[in-house]
Amino acid sequence: MEKKIYDVMIIGGGGAGLTAALYASRANLSTILFERLVPGGQIASTDLVENYPGFPEGILGPEIAQKMEAQAVRYGAFVSHEEVINLSRGGSIFEAASAEVIFSARSVILTMGASYRTLGVPKEKELTGKGVSYCATCDGAFFKGKKVIAVGGGDSALQEGIFLTRFAEHVSIIHRRDALRASPILQERAKINPKMNFLWNTVVDKIEGKEKVTSVLLRNVKTGETRKFPTDGVFVFIGHNPNSSLVKDFVMLDKEGYVVTDAVYAASVPGVFAAGEVREGAVRQLVAACGEGCAAALAAQAYLDNPR
Ligand code: NAP
Repeated sequence: MEKKIYDVMIIGGGGAGLTAALYASRANLSTILFERLVPGGQIASTDLVENYPGFPEGILGPEIAQKMEAQAVRYGAFVSHEEVINLSRGGSIFEAASAEVIFSARSVILTMGASYRTLGVPKEKELTGKGVSYCATCDGAFFKGKKVIAVGGGDSALQEGIFLTRFAEHVSIIHRRDALRASPILQERAKINPKMNFLWNTVVDKIEGKEKVTSVLLRNVKTGETRKFPTDGVFVFIGHNPNSSLVKDFVMLDKEGYVVTDAVYAASVPGVFAAGEVREGAVRQLVAACGEGCAAALAAQAYLDNPR
């Protein structure tokens, strides 16, 4: 049997990838999207998405993710749960290899997104799942009536911190500076929340506990003073790193590992495009990721019509 060569191969099923799959399949291009976990990327573990236009009451992250996948599939996109472990090019054909299978395509859209950063402090790894978490939606319910900390000063720390107050008795936001990066609306909500407080200019030096988290060692970066701070949970929301290791020797990356693209989302290898959080300079919002996914699919379509 002749091997199928797809028109478009999309690696990563977050908002960017799912939208690229929708646009590519609606353009009648044979489309395969690889998502090793559940569809939605970061929104799959977001409680409520409040800033995606068209949903004035907000929409649950997993719900919008499933709807986006269903919409792409409806127009013919094939979703594979294989994990791509190698990407290569032979002439004008790209090959994505999983542990079992090799898939071929004429163009590639990279939408692998980004993963949460870790603190890198003692006991963080050992106590992950035992009080240390990176996802309030996933783990918040385990902290009913408990005291937790949320580390970070961006939108994630505040949005997830506010979410945690549904379960936890108290949430302390630990931030390394004295000014937040988060949007004003979240700052306002967090500051008036009676279950929340802020510890400024403070970092976590160590997580403590045997079977589970019992305390952290905090340090004031201005005074150098350290103190033991009892807590049941450590939620870490300190930003993300790009999931670009698959393509580190394949396309040009910037010094932080994000995929470099031109104005039409083309990466350094002809026929390869990138969209969403894995891309250098991306605006980290679902609506922006979707917009980029659309633009990258249109650019792939133009490339397929007239390969360089
Ligand atoms: P972020 O905006 O990069 O913020 C990361 C925070 O963690 C910053 O406050 C940073 O401190 C702190 N930080 C970084 N490394 C640290 C370390 N090693 N130790 C202690 N603190 C550290 O990341 P994010 O909050 O995950 O947001 C990512 C993107 O998603 C943003 O563009 C955000 O707007 C978006 N997002 C939006 C929403 C929403 O619209 N509701 C929700 C979630 C996320 P400094 O401030 O000192 O750098």
